[in-house]
Amino acid sequence: MDPSKLFCLFCGCSVPNHNDTFREDEHYFLIRRPHFASEENFSDKITIQTMNCPNCHKVSIDIVGVGSQFPNRITHFNPISLAKAYPDYIPQTIRSDYEEAHAILNLSPKASATLSRRCLQGMIRDFWGISKARLVDEIDALKDIVDPSTKKVLDALRKLGNIGAHPEKDINLIVDIEPNEAHLLLKFIELLMQKWYIERHDNKQLLQDILDLDKDKQNQRRSKNS
Ligand SMILES: [Zn+2]
Repeated sequence: MDPSKLFCLFCGCSVPNHNDTFREDEHYFLIRRPHFASEENFSDKITIQTMNCPNCHKVSIDIVGVGSQFPNRITHFNPISLAKAYPDYIPQTIRSDYEEAHAILNLSPKASATLSRRCLQGMIRDFWGISKARLVDEIDALKDIVDPSTKKVLDALRKLGNIGAHPEKDINLIVDIEPNEAHLLLKFIELLMQKWYIERHDNKQLLQDILDLDKDKQNQRRSKNS
């Protein structure tokens, strides 16, 4: 977690950074064994970040690697995954791909990006009813439906997911994806879940509520007139 902008991973509220809400404890492997330590490996440590949410009182714990052996490696200890829980009206297969992509984020960012790509394909097929042999053609079919900036990002996500899905023939071309990069793709999937599924559902609900209200009022009028 970024100490300058803390958010509760359980309830999503922002958490102020002070002594009783956020702590960082450092663990050095070589601190009492100086004869093993060289300049280089003395900087290797893990930092355990603990955050206590004042709103829901749940404790989030991240373990962060620092130094040459495991730089920037983050393990989410509690909760294990940062995946959001989505409602049932989003198909199960789409939610499963999304949750798996989150679960594997730090272990294999490349596999995570591939799952994000599959999740995106599932969303385009289910939400827009567009189904073609290749994802590139499915995204192309969306060009008159979504705004140009979304279309560009959809293409970028497709290409990044390709890195894991289709290994390069030339071994020198292999590009790796970092956990924070794969996380960006998941953030974009979350944005689409919101913009597509949740907004459609909420809009439909609002319209239905107004129709129900109108029906209710008409019935009241009728019963008063009779
Ligand atoms: Zn909370």
